Amino acid sequence: MTLSSSAFHALFKSSSRFSWKSTEKLQLTLAGSIEKTGVGLHSGKVSTVKIRPHFAGGGRCFESQSRFVPASIDYVEESPLCTTLSKDGYRVRTVEHLLSALEATGVDNCRIEVVDLDAGDGDVEVPILDGSAGEWVEAIEGVGLKVAKDACGNSLEKMAPYLDEPVHAWRNDSFVVAFPSSQVHISCGINFPHVPSIGCQWFSASIEYDSFYKREIAPSRTFCIYEEVEKMRSRGLIKGGSLENALVCSADKGWVNPPLHFDEEPCRHKALDLIGDLSLFARCGSQGLPVGHIVAYKSGHALHAGFLRCLL
Ligand SMILES: [Zn+2]
Repeated sequence: MTLSSSAFHALFKSSSRFSWKSTEKLQLTLAGSIEKTGVGLHSGKVSTVKIRPHFAGGGRCFESQSRFVPASIDYVEESPLCTTLSKDGYRVRTVEHLLSALEATGVDNCRIEVVDLDAGDGDVEVPILDGSAGEWVEAIEGVGLKVAKDACGNSLEKMAPYLDEPVHAWRNDSFVVAFPSSQVHISCGINFPHVPSIGCQWFSASIEYDSFYKREIAPSRTFCIYEEVEKMRSRGLIKGGSLENALVCSADKGWVNPPLHFDEEPCRHKALDLIGDLSLFARCGSQGLPVGHIVAYKSGHALHAGFLRCLL
């Protein structure tokens, strides 16, 4: 290792609320590079994402020429309906689905370049693709993973944050609460009483990485309420939204573009978003998702970030 073992472990400061522990796995990175092009959900602009291998301890990092922003809670900027990272005027929007796929498939270290020829390199958005994380997972599996090495050719162990006491964050009637547990368990609830086709849904599962996520969570697409589309467009949002990249549900008429991939697909998508947002707790190639039973009800990106800040 470049760092001595004690110097490496000194980077992981536990608090009264959680402890960094070894997962007894080595940090991984991609075995090759990924490139995908598509439209941004909110900007409506076409961009290309290039994901490359990164050294052990480097973590996940967005970059563009000389600018970069680590995929970390330290750089989350409040933004409506998506998660945005921002540093020194470099802003990357809608990072949550890509980060969810990277976290769940164990891509601990990678460099992510988002190229939007219109926007220069200052303000970019990760393409929405089909609205799920399925295409990212397929692309990651397509190139495969390998053990990440640091500058001296050594591997590093993968740490994870284990909860030591209950932690909660709430806003109005929305909340995220997490309890200590020996494994990651997620329970997500949503409630749309005015949209009967969605209504109240719960999805609860132990997140066994790899195949479970790929099969049961990654294919879940983002969704919106038909009657709210015009209001969101007038706020400059979802300019790139279409029936090809989001499920749309009308309060009166039900699903506009079925079939769904799962009966409770909207709720599973909330689990996908939660994993992506909580992955921002990662540091130096660690796992981001806290090890515990995490219960989220009517939560969104801002509350997920608020929860991580409570944990810190
Ligand atoms: Zn989402």
